[in-house]
Amino acid sequence: MDSGHLDWPFFEERHRELAARVNAWAGEHLRHSDGDVDAQCRALVKQLGQAGWLRHAVAGTAHGGAGEAIDTRAVCLLRETLAWHHGLADFAFAMQGLGSGAISLHGSPEQRERYLPRVARGEAIAAFALSEPNAGSDVAAMSSVAEASADAYLINGEKTWISNGGIADFYVLFARTGEAAGSRGISAFIVDAGTPGLEIAERIAVIAPHPLARLRLTDCRVPKSQLLGAPGQGFKIAMQTLDIFRTSVAAAALGFARRALHEALQRVTTREMFGQRLADFQLTQAKLAQMATTLDGAALLTYRAAWQRDQGRNVTREAAMAKLAATEGAQQVIDAAVQLFGGSGVVSGATVERLYREIRALRIYEGTSEIQKIVIARHLLKESR
Ligand SMILES: Cc1cc2nc3c(=O)[nH]c(=O)nc-3n(C[C@H](O)[C@H](O)[C@H](O)COP(=O)(O)OP(=O)(O)OC[C@H]3O[C@@H](n4cnc5c(N)ncnc54)[C@H](O)[C@@H]3O)c2cc1C
Repeated sequence: MDSGHLDWPFFEERHRELAARVNAWAGEHLRHSDGDVDAQCRALVKQLGQAGWLRHAVAGTAHGGAGEAIDTRAVCLLRETLAWHHGLADFAFAMQGLGSGAISLHGSPEQRERYLPRVARGEAIAAFALSEPNAGSDVAAMSSVAEASADAYLINGEKTWISNGGIADFYVLFARTGEAAGSRGISAFIVDAGTPGLEIAERIAVIAPHPLARLRLTDCRVPKSQLLGAPGQGFKIAMQTLDIFRTSVAAAALGFARRALHEALQRVTTREMFGQRLADFQLTQAKLAQMATTLDGAALLTYRAAWQRDQGRNVTREAAMAKLAATEGAQQVIDAAVQLFGGSGVVSGATVERLYREIRALRIYEGTSEIQKIVIARHLLKESR
């Protein structure tokens, strides 16, 4: 993978070294296959765990993490590189982080000890269950309810679009506990797969296949020890988790877009037409220039957000800008690559065709582009007061 951006001042030597190592590993070990996605994801989680990459998805060296806190730049470089090589490997890595992020940030010592080492070794698959059929962008409209009794919560409701739904070993799941109205009355729980009352109501097939499901919870009894953080803190916990992983969605988009530019460069320098190479036409050069500029702009925003979070600063606005610019930009870059390939760009199984499908959902999940714009504008207006 092209690694010119690793010279930027956002990175330390350990980041450059990590990016080079994962790039070499991915080139050697990751191969695309048409097999069952569940089996592929399970195998990828194991493979990523055994190779040590999942250590970067969890916090705390005592619990198998690479450091005491999640290093956002490391997570982003891993995602960018994995996405360049293999979309499903990036997905498997990302979900281990997103699904366990709330435990890294807010888990009790017992919860960390019970879940994080297995996540880091690739022995337990994690999922993040926030969205509901009537609460996607409007998370605070969630209607799943967790009712407290002496020693447990009884959860009822539905969660949908849950990545790893069906193959996860546990779900970090959000439900209304009613301490206050709206977003302040939501709590976070760790619900183990196999808990009676938790069922996979539907598997959902999407354009870039990965395990995805709708969950139904019917009188699902979860011990109080599985409450994550304090009651009523669930929304805050979800948003803090997203602050890390939203930036990493931007990084994955960069990986897909960089791969598309790489493929396009190979194509235009070898495709002959009208007595010269496709690359020799100025119309082609304009496209390539636009692709590279869009990519660098998105990469600067992404690694600014990652670096800023690693300084311990709030990044809600910066992460939103990174996700917006990188996912929208990557869609344009990949579309331009498909166009440069002509007919062979839309053939099933072609690399740019795969990238074209893979990028689409990134503009939707972990907050749509429209929601990112709302977040950015809200910050601007608040600061101008
Ligand atoms: C492949 C995939 C994987 C996912 N994985 C997970 C997961 O693991 N865990 C999880 O909890 N969720 C997951 N999601 C859910 C995802 O986060 C939601 O799909 C997303 O937040 C949008 O919610 P929605 O689908 O209900 O769309 P809606 O909220 O119904 O949005 C529809 C449209 O309305 C727009 N819109 C929303 N608000 C406004 C506004 N104020 N003004 C103007 N337009 C607006 C949106 O931008 C969008 O274009 C996943 C989704 C997908 C597609």
